[in-house]
Amino acid sequence: MHCPFCRHPDSRVVDSRISEDGSAIRRRRQCPSCMRRFTTMEHTSLSVIKRSGVSEEFSRQKVIAGVRKACQGRPVGEDDLAKMAQQVEEKIRSRGVAEIDADEVGLAILEPLRELDQVAYLRFASVYQGFDSLEDFESAIASLRAERDSGQDSRKSDPAG
Ligand SMILES: [Zn+2]
Repeated sequence: MHCPFCRHPDSRVVDSRISEDGSAIRRRRQCPSCMRRFTTMEHTSLSVIKRSGVSEEFSRQKVIAGVRKACQGRPVGEDDLAKMAQQVEEKIRSRGVAEIDADEVGLAILEPLRELDQVAYLRFASVYQGFDSLEDFESAIASLRAERDSGQDSRKSDPAG
C-alpha cells in the first residue's frame, strides 16, 4: 500500500488488531521512506443489491446522497452526514453479512437520521416507509414525542449485548 504522505510504494505493518465488533482488521503502518505512520482498515466486501437486481459495493457517499435531499434547509452539516453514514455502515457491517438489499440500507439509515434531525427523518421516512396518509405522519410524530417525553433515553447501541 502506498504511503499517503509521500507516495512511497511500500509500507511496514507495525501493529494489527481486530475491531471491537470483529468486522474489521485495523493495521498501523509505517512508511520506511518518510517514517510517518498511518492506519488502514481491512473489511470484507459488502454488496448492496438494488431493486433492479444489480449489485454494487456499499458506499457511504451513496448513503449521504440519499439523505441529503431530506436534509435540505435543516441545520445538518457535512460532518453530521459523514458521521451518520459511518454509523449506518457500522450497523450494517455488525450484522456480518456480505450482501444487503438496498431497502435494508434505507431502513438502517432511519435510526441515526432520527437522532440527527427529526424533520429530515420524517421526510426520509415518508418516502422510505411509504407514508401515504396523515395518520402515518401522526403515528411517526407520536412515537418521536413519546421518545422525547421519556427523557434522555440512554441509547448506547451495543449489538453484542
Ligand atoms: Zn512516506
